[in-house]
Amino acid sequence: MDDLIGSKAAAAITTANYKRPRRTSRNQTHQPQDSMKDVVGSKMEAEAAVITTTIKKRPRRVRPTKSKPKEEEEALKEVDMEDLGFCGNEILEIRAFLLEWYDRNQRDLPWRRICRGDDEDGSDRRAYDVWVSEVMLQQTRVQTVIDYFNRWMHKWPTICHLARASIEEVNEMWAGLGYYRRARYLLEGSKKIVEGGGVFPKTVAALRKVPGIGDYTAGAIASIAFNETVPVVDGNVIRVVARLKAISANPKESVTIKNFWKLAGQLVDPSRPGDFNQALMELGATVCTPLNPNCSVCPVSNHCHALSLAKQNKSAQVTDYPTKVVKSKKRHEFSAVSVVEILDGQDMIEELQPDGRFLLVKRPDEGLLAGLWEFPSVLLGVETDLATRRYAIDQFLKKSFNLDLKKSCTVVLREDIGQYIHVFSHIRLKMYVELLVLRLKGRKNVLHGKPESETKAWKSVDSKALSSMGLTSGVRKVFSMIQKFKQNKSEPIPGKARKRKTPSS
Ligand code: SF4
Repeated sequence: MDDLIGSKAAAAITTANYKRPRRTSRNQTHQPQDSMKDVVGSKMEAEAAVITTTIKKRPRRVRPTKSKPKEEEEALKEVDMEDLGFCGNEILEIRAFLLEWYDRNQRDLPWRRICRGDDEDGSDRRAYDVWVSEVMLQQTRVQTVIDYFNRWMHKWPTICHLARASIEEVNEMWAGLGYYRRARYLLEGSKKIVEGGGVFPKTVAALRKVPGIGDYTAGAIASIAFNETVPVVDGNVIRVVARLKAISANPKESVTIKNFWKLAGQLVDPSRPGDFNQALMELGATVCTPLNPNCSVCPVSNHCHALSLAKQNKSAQVTDYPTKVVKSKKRHEFSAVSVVEILDGQDMIEELQPDGRFLLVKRPDEGLLAGLWEFPSVLLGVETDLATRRYAIDQFLKKSFNLDLKKSCTVVLREDIGQYIHVFSHIRLKMYVELLVLRLKGRKNVLHGKPESETKAWKSVDSKALSSMGLTSGVRKVFSMIQKFKQNKSEPIPGKARKRKTPSS
């Protein structure tokens, strides 16, 4: 691929020494970027009609034009994605148009707004901003991230502040963003950097040694904070590059992703690598969107082969690129969730008390939602009936807390509350939720008020503390189901139910 762009020569080219073509018409005076588009437009359209992409062993679906000789079509099918590359002039023009567009159109975002200074300390602080914002942006939309980012920086303005935080605090701050492992890596990474002297690694190679920093985040930090000429490839970049080059190879395959990194690497402007990477991502996020790309305002439309193909062939669309990959089906799982509430007081109660304490269990340190708090739950192999679910919960409570519902407590209320489906990236979890209100017999301190021990990762908290904890959205949803149930249940608990010693099953 390097050969196609003139290898070192292309890498040495910057927008700083690029001379823009002369304007050729009056209209172009008001639309400066169009002047360059027009100069290259006819050449590009001609090229776009013939340039196609394939991957090895999987010929690309070529969209023939009526005028194209058959031999030419056949010859083009031999072109591999690995052989594609941006030519020198093309690189210069894309850099120039994109940066010009970015300077005028970039969104005002807090992690871009923060002034950290130009000295080394300022760069390190900027790296911290980029790191936190990029990890958050991998989770969710920009609008959602803004609030999280501002709160995070208010609490931990520097990496040293973050390194002193506990995982509980970090999880609490992260609550609702999902993929909690990434929050944990932020904390672990900050500790490692601070333990190593507090100086931020400045290159991709050094950044990759920090826990949780992958190719994408390393490229973003190194280019934006430290001006290293390295690419950044996320979904937005893949989409833009796939359309610029009309690449129809499977974008999920590792060999294709590797080639996207190469192509993006050709484009990065050595004079402004961070801005260029942000510009490419910004274009994908705001103009070259998945379903409705706004090609009429796109600064690089004259370099877009997908657009040229679409203009020549009515059945073709720019949204044909990148190729849509059928998502693998989510695994269906089922669980029984028991919201166990331990009541205070000595006597029979007349209604649900607001001051009960809720039992929370900490998940294992590895795996899904590692180290996070949740209500007691049991994963069921298959969808089961109520009796089986209650039996599974009874066994879990007995085994985990020595809590025998028949011997060590009185069941004040046990009610099936409903179901809630939580969708993870690869799992569709159906949760059967129950409320189990208990009053302990005799040994009330077995659960109540006992701090989290080292051997048993559990604790009991009142509803106020529970509401302020950093809980996953699934746990919050379950708790809101319980609260709603309690609000609706205005009548006293029937005496019959209070006298039951064992739960019905
Ligand atoms: S011309 Fe359209 S499809 Fe091509 S890069 Fe621009 S917005 Fe995307």
